[in-house]
Amino acid sequence: MWGHFDTISTPAEYVESLKGRGLRVYLMGELIPEPSDHPMIRPSVNAVAETYQLAIDDVELGSVQVGTADQRINRFLHVVGSQSDLVDKARMQHELGRRTGSCFQRCVGMDALNTIHSVSYEVDQKHGTDYHSRFRTFLTEVQRRNHVIGGAMTDAKGDRSKPPHLQADPDMYLRVTRSDKDGVYLRGAKLHQTGSINSHWLIAMPTMRLREKDADYAIVAAIPVHADGITFIYGRQANDTRCNELGDIDQGNAQFSGQESTIIFEDVFVPWCHVFLHGEYEFAADIVERFTAYHRCSYICKSGVGDVLIGAAAEIADMNGVAAAHHIKDKLVEMVHLNETIRSCAMASAYQGRPLASGAFLNDEQSANVCKHNVTRFPYEIARLAQDIAGGLIVTLPSEADLAHEEIGPLARKYLTGASGIDAEHRIRILRLIENLTIGRNAVGYLTESMHGAGSPQAQRIQIARGADYDRKRESARSIAGCEQPNLSK
Ligand code: SF4
Ligand code: FE
Repeated sequence: MWGHFDTISTPAEYVESLKGRGLRVYLMGELIPEPSDHPMIRPSVNAVAETYQLAIDDVELGSVQVGTADQRINRFLHVVGSQSDLVDKARMQHELGRRTGSCFQRCVGMDALNTIHSVSYEVDQKHGTDYHSRFRTFLTEVQRRNHVIGGAMTDAKGDRSKPPHLQADPDMYLRVTRSDKDGVYLRGAKLHQTGSINSHWLIAMPTMRLREKDADYAIVAAIPVHADGITFIYGRQANDTRCNELGDIDQGNAQFSGQESTIIFEDVFVPWCHVFLHGEYEFAADIVERFTAYHRCSYICKSGVGDVLIGAAAEIADMNGVAAAHHIKDKLVEMVHLNETIRSCAMASAYQGRPLASGAFLNDEQSANVCKHNVTRFPYEIARLAQDIAGGLIVTLPSEADLAHEEIGPLARKYLTGASGIDAEHRIRILRLIENLTIGRNAVGYLTESMHGAGSPQAQRIQIARGADYDRKRESARSIAGCEQPNLSK
């Protein structure tokens, strides 16, 4: 059940731990024998491996002391127990976005662990169950092994006007099909799941508020990625097959990418020791709200990726010989302003964290929702400005094969040289990076995933309205204006 790898300390050990698991992964219509070796998948493995590298390069940021000075765990497996933990979590995510220019995939599991820590405690308080102690036993073991946890939340949903139990096909939401003395059996699918194939465990959670008739769908469970009955279908991304070509220039970011997949569960068995909610439907809403509070703050990752794109825009402005132009300087300032707004909201959310009954801390929901809502908009504007500064070359450049061609290569390089002293290849590499982040492979994470990940924009607007506290605002207005009238909204 735990896989063959005991404790993972280095990026190389992490990559090794992914091998030989016999996963059933389909990619472009083929069953892939060893996913982590596949050239289309490997950049996403590298991005997760960077979470192990950070814990080596910057011990304080990438890991947390849990006992004596040498007893540390990776920060991605730590349950946040203070405001400063929340702040360090956010700082780590910003740094990893900056290091990879990509989605490093490990946050979903971290946010799931934090959510289940507090919710399982509260379920036990109400129902006398023992979910929390089961969860803590599991948590201690994954911390010791330094495993990667993937979340599994978003169901297929079918007809969105209907709850799970009224769907024409009952498998549209992950459900318990039967249970026995040993455990439960799960069927259904989870869509657009980040980093699942690069994980060791999945934590399945409900995706929405549930009612009594949906009790079969109220399931939280930890499942090994290599469990029998699980099939992955890899989500292809813009320009992803460029990795099959010669060279690395056209990929823009040959080292790192994100990973999304569809996970299909066909009567997957989960022993009771890894079941952390089973039928207590009234807690589904708490799980969703708490998870999204954590995860919408986690989108500080995009400000790290934004740093990379702003850096690329500043570089290309130099290389094009336009860095001194006032409008270019102004556009760069605008990009920084937007990017820092994202980062600041996440940091504010972390600094305003509060304790929950289990001892875990939760970041401020309102700031987290504002952070994520900004993320649904600002990266698009930052990307637009980067393309504006870069010029049309990002979509008209010759390929690396043309640059390497004996006859036309020198000609292409001659006419693609920008400001004096700038090597044409360096200019092309920066342009390809901008392409990668704004319309290529990492635009998946930087743009569309920013729109819909952790909930689409309307989901944040609903939460922002709930947290708006209009009454207090009205009171301030009435008091300052000298209005004696009662609050008409009451
Ligand atoms: Fe983490 Fe950001 Fe990727 Fe989500 S999109 S898993 S928050 S890096
Ligand atoms: Fe996400």
